[in-house]
Amino acid sequence: MPSNKTTQCLAFEHHDHQRCQSRLLSAAKQLCHSQNIRLTERREQVLQILLQSHQPMGAYEILGQLNQNPDVSMVAPPIVYRALEFLLSVGLVHRIECKNAFIGCAHPGHASAAQFLICKGCEKVAELDNPTTSLQQEASQVGFMIDHSVVEITGLCAECQADG
Ligand SMILES: [Zn+2]
Ligand SMILES: [Zn+2]
Ligand SMILES: [Zn+2]
Repeated sequence: MPSNKTTQCLAFEHHDHQRCQSRLLSAAKQLCHSQNIRLTERREQVLQILLQSHQPMGAYEILGQLNQNPDVSMVAPPIVYRALEFLLSVGLVHRIECKNAFIGCAHPGHASAAQFLICKGCEKVAELDNPTTSLQQEASQVGFMIDHSVVEITGLCAECQADG
């Protein structure tokens, strides 16, 4: 059933997440390189933590993970917030407003609009690879220029529906 296409909803398909994770990390690094974005060690650590799963993570969860690593000196919350702010500003991380949590971008380098399918069962989030064109069209018809657009759609993934 699963395929290798760069699918829209990989989060909800059985897949080799390790590959998925390293693919996203290298895509992020490539983007930074091509756009002269400085991915410091700390920023990369935060991104790596967020790419570990398809479930969004709160800032304190990220902090907890960073401080689990005995090789690294204790990290204070502002440092995590600054790293997150940076990653958000360059589009490598998205904020899931309804969960007050963060998730690594599934398609680094895409335009600003993002759409998410959020499963209420397993709490996984899939980022759709499909810009909100009709929304953008409607907005531009009335001369509205969108600078930030996030669509969060909640529901149940196929697996969670099957689980009843
Ligand atoms: Zn994955
Ligand atoms: Zn994205
Ligand atoms: Zn689910």
